[in-house]
Amino acid sequence: MKVLVVNSGSSSLKYQLIDTSSDAILARGLAERIGMASGRLKHVSEGRSELVLEQPIPDHVTATDLAFSALVDPQHGAVSTLDEIEAVGHRVVHGGEKLTRAVRIDDEVIRAIEEMSALAPLHNPPNLMGIRACLERMPHTPQVAVFDTAFHSTMPPYAYMYALPYELYSKLGIRRYGFHGSSHKYVSARAARLLREMGHEGDTHIVTCHLGNGCSATAVVNGRAVDTSMGMTPAEGLVMGTRGGDIDPAILPFLIKKYGWSADELETLINKKGGLLGLSGASNDMRDVEERAGKGDARSRLALEVFCYRVRKYIGAYAAAMGGLDAVVFTGGIGENSPTVREMCCQGLEVLGVALDPELNASGRGERCVSCEDSRAKVLVIPTNEELEIARETVEIASALQVG
Ligand code: AMP
Repeated sequence: MKVLVVNSGSSSLKYQLIDTSSDAILARGLAERIGMASGRLKHVSEGRSELVLEQPIPDHVTATDLAFSALVDPQHGAVSTLDEIEAVGHRVVHGGEKLTRAVRIDDEVIRAIEEMSALAPLHNPPNLMGIRACLERMPHTPQVAVFDTAFHSTMPPYAYMYALPYELYSKLGIRRYGFHGSSHKYVSARAARLLREMGHEGDTHIVTCHLGNGCSATAVVNGRAVDTSMGMTPAEGLVMGTRGGDIDPAILPFLIKKYGWSADELETLINKKGGLLGLSGASNDMRDVEERAGKGDARSRLALEVFCYRVRKYIGAYAAAMGGLDAVVFTGGIGENSPTVREMCCQGLEVLGVALDPELNASGRGERCVSCEDSRAKVLVIPTNEELEIARETVEIASALQVG
């Protein structure tokens, strides 16, 4: 089945056309700077030259129109008509407690996604703009919403509840939801398969570490998420590019009293000024931070250490939460590409049976095991593929519709 996967952000729209019979990417593209004075669409279809269009893109409908024109373009496209696209899968960040699995999009689903915007004001509204634009242009093609939160819906209450007055949960839905679900689902399934191929028998206890611009760790037992580091919003947990993750909550009222900061200013502090950027004072990009640390910059070194120490603490905590550890998975731009980060994250984990092989860790590409042969818990590097996961879930829903 040819599935278009759409990831619509506030000022960008990313898409991939995937043939799920072979997992081949037939085309991919990115419309950037939507709503700004100058916009750009970059599109490339398999085996064809790249198309770059520089022009204002006032809204998401225009962005999808440009993407659709590129997809059917005789020179740069991948299909002859849009009818060849059998389903569209949309990444939606927050499904809350109502939308805990992928669903076909209808008016009721749109209303539920709108309701969840209260918990994800930066993400759900732009996701909806992409959905509406595609519905307008492809009204007869099944459109499916795949939620970042859905994989985590199997967490037990003692893992997702905050110890706050219960009414804050029952009235406002304040609880842990978790994000990056498609990534954690994809890599944990791959990891379980690799473990079996390596002779593992019985239950699987896996910690997946998605380390990219955003970072999160998830504890997965037999394919089911039992805990995750992001919370009601993607701000909790690990250190990220510009988000600091866990902090003492009393720091916020302290700052309000000290400086009179508003909710918006605190939001900016939490989401934009912390993490690698805040600590290093130099960059939110791990490559820069590593380079500067290597040249002796003390604050970049500190940023790297805080980042890795936090990951290590979560791996230890999740091993305890799961009652075992069979594999640690590294994925995301940092997890897949930084031997230094992987090494520092695994330091001290020998107590949990983790023995990283320094040579394997420093070399190789793609999906691989980088722990010593006799390491009780394996260390796996697994490139994530959120789009493929979304495409697969979309096919499941769309095929069921065809059968029904
Ligand atoms: P993502 O959000 O998954 O695209 O990941 C982005 C992050 O991956 C940025 O912090 C990049 O600096 C980081 N990254 C990409 N390549 C490398 C690398 N070779 N070494 C360290 N970090 C990297």
